[in-house]
Amino acid sequence: MARSWVSTAPAAAALLLLLPFAAASSEQGGASPPGMLELTDTTFQSALSELPDDRWVLMEFYAHWCPHCQHFKPEYEKVAAYFHERGEQEPVVQVARLDCAEFHKTCTKFKITGYPTMKLGLAADFAALALDKVTAVQAASWHADSVVAFIGQHLNVKFNTDSLSNGGGGGGAAVGALGRKGGIGGGSALVQHAHEADTSGSGVAAPLAAARVDLNDVEGATVTSWQYLAASPQLLKGPEARQALKDWVDLLADGHPVERCRLGAEKLQEALDELWPDDSDEPEKGLQQMQICPGSRFKEWRSCRGTRPDSRGYTCGLWQLLHTLASRLPETENAGAVWLAAVKGFVKNYFQCSECAKHFVRHAGGEEAVAVARKRDAVLWMWRTHNIVNRRLGAEDRAEPAKADPASPHTQFPPVELCSTCRRGEEAGDSKDEAVPWDEEQVYRFLLEFYSGKAQAQQAAAAGGGGGGGSRPAGWADAGLLLCVVAACVYGVLRKSGQYSIRKSSSRLL
Ligand SMILES: Cc1cc2nc3c(=O)[nH]c(=O)nc-3n(C[C@H](O)[C@H](O)[C@H](O)COP(=O)(O)OP(=O)(O)OC[C@H]3O[C@@H](n4cnc5c(N)ncnc54)[C@H](O)[C@@H]3O)c2cc1C
Repeated sequence: MARSWVSTAPAAAALLLLLPFAAASSEQGGASPPGMLELTDTTFQSALSELPDDRWVLMEFYAHWCPHCQHFKPEYEKVAAYFHERGEQEPVVQVARLDCAEFHKTCTKFKITGYPTMKLGLAADFAALALDKVTAVQAASWHADSVVAFIGQHLNVKFNTDSLSNGGGGGGAAVGALGRKGGIGGGSALVQHAHEADTSGSGVAAPLAAARVDLNDVEGATVTSWQYLAASPQLLKGPEARQALKDWVDLLADGHPVERCRLGAEKLQEALDELWPDDSDEPEKGLQQMQICPGSRFKEWRSCRGTRPDSRGYTCGLWQLLHTLASRLPETENAGAVWLAAVKGFVKNYFQCSECAKHFVRHAGGEEAVAVARKRDAVLWMWRTHNIVNRRLGAEDRAEPAKADPASPHTQFPPVELCSTCRRGEEAGDSKDEAVPWDEEQVYRFLLEFYSGKAQAQQAAAAGGGGGGGSRPAGWADAGLLLCVVAACVYGVLRKSGQYSIRKSSSRLL
C-alpha cells in the first residue's frame, strides 16, 4: 500500500516547488562583488575548467536562507576583493560560491551537510568533483583575515592581512563568533527591496503582518524543510538520522495543523519502515520522492516575508512550525519530552544552518530541557528558548540597525500590546529587557491561543492542564483566528515602530 502512494513524477514536481526559493536566491546578491565567481549546478564544472588547472580556488557552499551564511557574506566578499586586488601575484586564488539551497546537486557531490562550508583546492580538482583532493577550511574565526590566514598557512605563504583586520571594511569583531559584524547587506539594498516588496502587486502581505501566525507559513516551513532534507542524501545516513526522521514524521502526523501535511506525514509513517528499514544505513530513493504536504499550494512567505529576499522566510516559518506543534500536543505525561526529542533530533540532523543548530542543540541538552515532560513544559521551554535567541539577535539589531530587517527587529515575545496580561505589575509595559516580569500562566494561555486557536485554549483551561488533547481538525476556530489577526497587526505596527523593549535577563545564552 505504501509503495503505491509513492509519487512517480517527483523530479518535475520538486523543481516546481523549488522555484520560489530559486527566485529568492538569484535575487539576493544583485551584481557580483569584485573577484567573486558565482556558480550554479550548470556552470560549476565548465567555469572551473576554464581556469588554469593549478589555480587555487576557495569555494563557499552556503544557503541563502541560512542566518550565519548571511552574517558571513560580507567577510567572504572581502576575501574575494582581497585576492582580486592582488591580481596575478602568485599564488593566485579565485574565490567562488554556490547556493546549495538552489543548486543542491553539486553540494551533494561534495557531501556538504551544513552551511556555510568552505573548501580550498585546485581548479582542476573542483572541476573534476574530486572531493578527496580539496581541503576543508578551518579558519580560526569567520572573519576575512582569518580565512586568508588559513589559506596562507595551507599554501605556505605569508599574506599581508592588515587591510582586512584594520579598516578594510570591518574585521576586528570577536574571534570565533559569527555575529552580525559585517552584516547582511547594505542600507541601500534594504530600501530598494522594501520598496519592491510594497509595490510588487503580488498579493503577498507586506512586512507589517510579519508577526502573524499564518498557516501558509507553517505549511511553507514544512514543505521547505522536507525539500532541503530530501535533496540532501548525505544527511539521510545512519541510525541517528533515521530515528530523527521517524520522530519528526510522527510529530507531524500527530499534530500538524494543516490537514494535507498531517495526511502526508501519515503516509510517510506507513512507508518509512519499508523505504528505510532499520537495518539499512540509508533509505531507498523512493523516500526522497515522497511529499510531505501533497497538493501543497505554498508559494511564498506571507507573515514571514522579509524586506529583503534573503531575510526571514524559512527560519521564521520553522520557529512557527515548532511552536505550533508544541501547542497542539496532547495532555499526556510525556508528550512534551517526546516533542523535545523529535525537535532536537530534527534540528541536529536536518537544520543545516550549522551554527544555529549547534547553539540550539546545546541548549536543548541543558538543565531546563531535562525538565520538559508535559505539553505545558514544552510550550514554555520553546517560548523561553526563542526569546533567548531574540535577545541576542535584538542586541545585534540595535548595534547595527542598518543591517537588521527594519520591519522585524528581534524583540521579546509577546509584547504587551499583544498580551496585556502576560507581564506582571504596572511597570510591565515599560520594563526593559532584563526586567520583564512574565506571568507564565498568562503567557501559556496566550501561546496556546496564538498558535493553536481559541478552541484548544479553552479546552486546556477547562481541563486545568489535564484534558484530552490529541489531534484536532485542521481549521482554526474563527474567533481565535480573528483575535490572532488583529493582535498580530498591532504587534507588527509596534515592532516596526520599535515601541517595546528587549530583555537581557536570562542567565542562559543560546
Ligand atoms: C532553531 C533555530 C535556531 C536559530 N538560531 C539562530 C542563531 O543562532 N543565529 C541567528 O542569527 N539566527 C538563528 N535563527 C534564525 C533567527 O532566530 C530568526 O528566525 C531569523 O532571524 C528571522 O527572524 P524573524 O524576524 O523572522 O523572527 P523569528 O525569530 O524567526 O520569529 C518568527 C515568529 O515567531 C513568533 N515569535 C517570536 N518570538 C517568539 C517566542 N519567544 N515565542 C513564541 N513565538 C515567538 C513571532 O510571531 C515571530 O514573527 C534560528 C532559527 C531557528 C528556527
